[in-house]
Amino acid sequence: MRRDSIKLKSQTILDKMWDMSHEQLVFCSDHVLGLKAIISIHNTVLGPAMGGTRMWDYTSEIAAIEDVLRLSRGMTFKNSIAGLNIGGGKAVIIGDAKKIKGEKLMRRFGEFVNGLGGQYWTAEDVNMTTQDMEYIRMETPYVAGLSEKSGGSGDPSPVTAYGVFCAMKACAKKVYGSDILVGKKILVQGLGNVGSYLIELLIKEQAHVLVSDLFNDKIKSIAERFKVTVVAVNEVYGAEVDIYAPCALGATINSQTIPMMNCKIIAGGANNQLADETLHAKMLNDKGILYGPDFLINSGGIINVYFEQQGNYNKAKVLEKTEDIYKMTTDVINLASVNQITTHQAALNIAKKRIEDFSRLKSPTF
Ligand code: NAD
Repeated sequence: MRRDSIKLKSQTILDKMWDMSHEQLVFCSDHVLGLKAIISIHNTVLGPAMGGTRMWDYTSEIAAIEDVLRLSRGMTFKNSIAGLNIGGGKAVIIGDAKKIKGEKLMRRFGEFVNGLGGQYWTAEDVNMTTQDMEYIRMETPYVAGLSEKSGGSGDPSPVTAYGVFCAMKACAKKVYGSDILVGKKILVQGLGNVGSYLIELLIKEQAHVLVSDLFNDKIKSIAERFKVTVVAVNEVYGAEVDIYAPCALGATINSQTIPMMNCKIIAGGANNQLADETLHAKMLNDKGILYGPDFLINSGGIINVYFEQQGNYNKAKVLEKTEDIYKMTTDVINLASVNQITTHQAALNIAKKRIEDFSRLKSPTF
């Protein structure tokens, strides 16, 4: 029997979940508080699903669903390749953070997370802070990324940025024969939490840093702290640079932007950078641009919150594990070259293999 159902482009939501192998999609609403949220659990073979909550003013519910499905799937592979015993999940709250965020809303969201009984653990993502995690913590233990003063691991962004920096060096080693970034022209797109910490590391390394953001206040605050060159938002993709570091939102690598690109390496912190994983990874390959797979190289933040979630937070160990991203990036580059596949595919193969080895069912499909 045919039933009416919400469609994502040409597919129903359940068909899409089926194709992408998601386990659960949970819709949460509270009309009194104005909360509309979606929690997506992609895969729990390695352990309970874990991934941050993003607050974003999506143009439609469909856009929010597509985002959370993609982001949670990415978490499955990120957590796997980072060697963590957690599965992939993510949540989105629909709305403008500047207008709707507050204690009541975050605590109500925490109640929904709690209702999942530990199947999903949350943490920070875009537009979320340690304070928000503390509100959530009032309603559920299934949250990490609390502030250091509350015994948590603090903002994960500096560790994310450090992992990206390590991966950038591994990519530079491959392309230039040296991992020293002195004098390299590196364009950081997105001057938020991850982007600004990355800039700090790159300036220390004496790289030539170029920056871009949608908002002038972000640019101003970075330009006041560091010697950087500002690039207009619409000139980012054509800029002649050594490394492009996407640290804003996803899908900036697509059929329109790739033909414009003038860089040798892409290594940045944003999630879901490739609009189409297969097509655009191949286009980059064909163009001779080395791509550092996003879910591998931005895994420092989840490594940070994972140690907190496990109840044995130790900053030195977190940084040591984050530095493994350099070696894993090198392994991925080599595997891609030996097997004549893209770096994205090589990283996916490693992540999937670990899950398959762990799998209770022996034959998960992705
Ligand atoms: P953020 O909200 O602090 O910063 C994002 C910045 O990007 C903002 O300054 C915003 O104005 C800017 N921006 C948005 N669209 C832009 C565009 N088209 N051009 C230029 N600038 C643009 O977010 P964040 O925490 O720094 O995260 C950045 C990215 O990294 C996101 O994709 C996030 O999912 C990913 N990520 C973050 C972490 C973390 O630890 N925070 C971990 C893993 C992945």
